[in-house]
Amino acid sequence: MKWKTNILDLKAYQPGRSTEAVKKEFGLDNITKLASNENPYGYSLKVLETLQEKPSQFAIYPDGNGSVLKEALSRFYNLPEDRFLLGNGSDEIIGIISRSILRPGINTVMATPSFSQYKHNAIVENAEVREIPLTKEGDHDLNAMLEAIDENTGVVWLCTPNNPSGVYIAEGDLIPFLEAVPKDVVVVLDEAYREYVVAEDYPDSLQLVEKYPNVIVLHTFSKIYGLASFRVGYAIANEEVIAKLNPVREPFNVNTFGQWVSVAALEDQDFVESCREKNREGLQQYYSFCEEEKLSYYPSQANFILIDFGISGDDVFHYLMSKGYIVRSGVALGFPTCVRITVGTKEQNDGIISELRGLLAEKRNK
Ligand SMILES: *Cc1c(COP(=O)(O)O)cnc(C)c1O
Repeated sequence: MKWKTNILDLKAYQPGRSTEAVKKEFGLDNITKLASNENPYGYSLKVLETLQEKPSQFAIYPDGNGSVLKEALSRFYNLPEDRFLLGNGSDEIIGIISRSILRPGINTVMATPSFSQYKHNAIVENAEVREIPLTKEGDHDLNAMLEAIDENTGVVWLCTPNNPSGVYIAEGDLIPFLEAVPKDVVVVLDEAYREYVVAEDYPDSLQLVEKYPNVIVLHTFSKIYGLASFRVGYAIANEEVIAKLNPVREPFNVNTFGQWVSVAALEDQDFVESCREKNREGLQQYYSFCEEEKLSYYPSQANFILIDFGISGDDVFHYLMSKGYIVRSGVALGFPTCVRITVGTKEQNDGIISELRGLLAEKRNK
């Protein structure tokens, strides 16, 4: 068969181990999964209410235009509806942008380590991938990224806060970068964790979209809104950019339930705020632990923390799994001596920290 040769070595996305599989292997009753940056507090009660109230016309296709959700987003952001593109998760929008721009002869610039899907989609489109290492502090090296841009660059991906380092790009660094990027190069700001950010100098991306027509901002309902299983994300951009991307998506890409629950979730900003606050307290638990144990970590503006244990991340991962905690080993994320832990509830964080202290004590006694 006439496969594109560029996809022959591609691996399907590797999700974390399922809790059922881990329970069986280690004979555990309780498993805590803090591996995929899901919200430990679930989702707003308004989401449940909506699901109970809505009629269930399962035989009917979803609204392909996502009108009600776009209206809600338009009200929420005070922007016209034509600035929004809905996706089956922001993952799909990364794919739509890639399909619309990337091709052989066109290159794309991204940080490494960063979110895996930018590179993955670029490989599918057979575009040249230019990966620029993060700085030692886990920041995007914006100067080096600028230098990597040439007349054949199609898309630059900025993940802020960056998954997996948790480090964000400050406004004072981003604006000179956007000023210097050629106007025909799309800059994607993937802000999947933006609702968790508390840094004062985090840029106002809505203003950036107004000022720079080549900027596309990605947001999602999967992280702080706690709706990952419904698969809803969206792009905010200039109306002409949206008009180019919109025909490339699938006709009914966002399912009916996803549209309903997202509208309900947007209405409950108290829930979002309380999750943001509790997340900061959780991060503080990890910071204190790292400082006491003299472990280095990346200061996070997201709902996860990347901690360096100075031994293989796989070893830490396996140790925690045997104790009933699933996290992400840094080995697969480009940080081989780290693990990435999603911030859980206070009890979950205490539990994981106590196991980690056990591991460090074992290591010291060897
Ligand atoms: C989780 C995540 C996404 C994907 O979110 P979905 O909307 O669930 O597809 C996108 N970008 C980053 C950086 C993420 O961490």
